[in-house]
Amino acid sequence: MADQCVFCRIVRREIVTNILLETEECIAFRDTNPQAPVHVLVIPKEHVSSLDAVTDAALVGRLGLVAAEVARRTGVAESGYRTVINTNAAAGQTVFHIHLHLLGGRQFGWPPG
Ligand code: 5GP
Ligand code: ZN
Repeated sequence: MADQCVFCRIVRREIVTNILLETEECIAFRDTNPQAPVHVLVIPKEHVSSLDAVTDAALVGRLGLVAAEVARRTGVAESGYRTVINTNAAAGQTVFHIHLHLLGGRQFGWPPG
């Protein structure tokens, strides 16, 4: 439900959040439980529950472009960064408003856990 969705509440500014970048369709803000020195979430303002529910290819493209811009602004673009979209239970999705994680500022292992 978009009414109760925590990320929709951030979009509506009902929850105070450190917003790093805003475009017409997306916002990027710091994760409250960072897993890397730079850990930013990029979301569409429109409520879409997960990648599995996306019907507009451009939505995913916009998340990627905003993440790349935030990576440049936070100084991790050159050293490298990871972008992740967790989808549904096995991937550990906990917030059902699609979000792209941008993680940077440290070395990452592969394969991911
Ligand atoms: P998921 O596990 O669904 O891929 O990621 C959800 C992420 O959202 C987690 O990394 C969690 O720390 C973050 N998160 C959950 N609630 C909030 C919140 O209210 N504000 C912010 N900034 N991040 C949140
Ligand atoms: Zn939402």
